[in-house]
Amino acid sequence: MTNIFLALGTNLGDRLKNLQRALTALPPSVHVLRSSPIYETSPWGITDQPEFLNMVIEGETKLSPLDLLRFLKDLERQLGRTPSLRYGPRLIDLDILFYDELLLDTPELTIPHPRLHERAFVLVPLADLAPDFLHPRLGRPVRDLLMAVERTGIRLYLG
Ligand code: AMP
Repeated sequence: MTNIFLALGTNLGDRLKNLQRALTALPPSVHVLRSSPIYETSPWGITDQPEFLNMVIEGETKLSPLDLLRFLKDLERQLGRTPSLRYGPRLIDLDILFYDELLLDTPELTIPHPRLHERAFVLVPLADLAPDFLHPRLGRPVRDLLMAVERTGIRLYLG
């Protein structure tokens, strides 16, 4: 079993339901150990789009990194995501943040996720679960990465 962290994001339709459906569909391929609170966050990149809900989960899987990516992309399609603009609106986005301490660089998949350390909407929920986890490429704990980013526009989502 490998310990993994996944980021979930959604900004179209019934956002809470999108997160719940994704969480329900993860097992048995991904066993969910813990989930962060949900945050409402201002869009990044393309700013003229609805607000996102973001969260992070810690889980365990027997899937290889590439099989995990394929499983998550299939799940995005099943949940109704159609191909869309990079950084554009999406029903559900599922990203692999960490896969144990693995470093992977392929055209299809980069682990740790190459932009996680720039994104407060990922670092805030990740730090709720694993503030001391060392980013295996940067060699710095998640809490330090979070201190280096601007976190305005990230609010706890209370429904
Ligand atoms: P997205 O727009 O977030 O759905 O991501 C588009 C593509 O990013 C995916 O189809 C993957 O091939 C690629 N990708 C690279 N690294 C990762 C990662 N760590 N997690 C998820 N997708 C990744």
